[in-house]
Amino acid sequence: MKKQFYNYTIEALKKDLIDNNFKAYNAEQIYKWVYENNVTDPELMTNISKDLKSFMIDNFSFDLLNLISQQTSKNGTDKFLFELHDKIVIESVLMKHDYGLSLCVTSQAGCSMGCSFCASGLINKQRDLTAAELVIQILSVQAIKKVKITHIVVMGTGEPFDNYDNVMDFVKIINYKHGLQIGSRHITISTCGIVPKIYEFANEEIKANLAISLHAPNNDLRNRLMRINRAYPINEVIQAAKDYFDQTKRRVTFEYILLKGINDEIEHANELSDLIRGINCYVNLIPYNPVNEFSFKKTDESRADRFYQQLIRRGINVTLRKEMGSDIDAACGQLRLKNHKQSLKNID
Ligand code: SAH
Repeated sequence: MKKQFYNYTIEALKKDLIDNNFKAYNAEQIYKWVYENNVTDPELMTNISKDLKSFMIDNFSFDLLNLISQQTSKNGTDKFLFELHDKIVIESVLMKHDYGLSLCVTSQAGCSMGCSFCASGLINKQRDLTAAELVIQILSVQAIKKVKITHIVVMGTGEPFDNYDNVMDFVKIINYKHGLQIGSRHITISTCGIVPKIYEFANEEIKANLAISLHAPNNDLRNRLMRINRAYPINEVIQAAKDYFDQTKRRVTFEYILLKGINDEIEHANELSDLIRGINCYVNLIPYNPVNEFSFKKTDESRADRFYQQLIRRGINVTLRKEMGSDIDAACGQLRLKNHKQSLKNID
């Protein structure tokens, strides 16, 4: 069977070519054709030998993803549903910002972290995505929309640090100077707080941005909302975030979904600000996207604003995220969930 070209970091491609009696610099040539010039037919790679053309044709595939549906929201957010070779359906969300185009990619099919408010967890993890399956979410959206994506957030379905090696290969491939050339400051990885992986991530050569889903200011509440907190309690997460800043000089983002009557009281804002005081960080307050299967509700705007203002008063860098695409279920596994149920119905 052919190998997926998009799984290959430049180092892995060099090794594969050298093992097959080609030269390391051939890897650079091929990378430039594919990623810089959009040429994936080896016959058209004019500066490589006939032997290498045949080798590439015989051994590598360059397939992109099958699009099964696309939705555009009022504010221009696009949601894409793709089918993988084994019929698993994943989603990618393209968001327009004043600073560029950002794609939210899926890192696993389903998720086994089991956060109590999150739709992704309703479908248990089926498998990890390969690095190629992450890369081709970008390439497929670029091809469909005829755009250049400038920012990547690994915040779609799945826990990226539960698929660490593939996600790190993905980062290397898209960041490489003859790859997709997406700068490390334009790449953000979001974790629910797998502490040992945060330390490992801090030591990676490529210093990408780290976002941590906090969602609660103390262990009692976080244990209830996020099962992962029982393995890695909140103080360990905070310590790891401090270390991440010390190692990388990158400000950590703490994500905090506002859940009505659960974590949105002034006392929670006070507790949160005490918890993260002194850390170089941002807090990103996220409006909750209600999920039918759960009873959690979205905090209304005035309460959200009150929470936001309290953090500001206490000297915290905070943003209140605007909603993006909730009219098309572009948040967090929802459309995929619908599609999954639909396909179950069809089977019935
Ligand atoms: N597993 C990673 C990344 C995927 S989830 C993580 O936990 O960070 C991306 C973000 O969306 C997380 O902060 C997650 O808690 C949040 N999220 C999940 N369900 C949501 C919902 N229904 N509404 C708003 N945000 C949600």
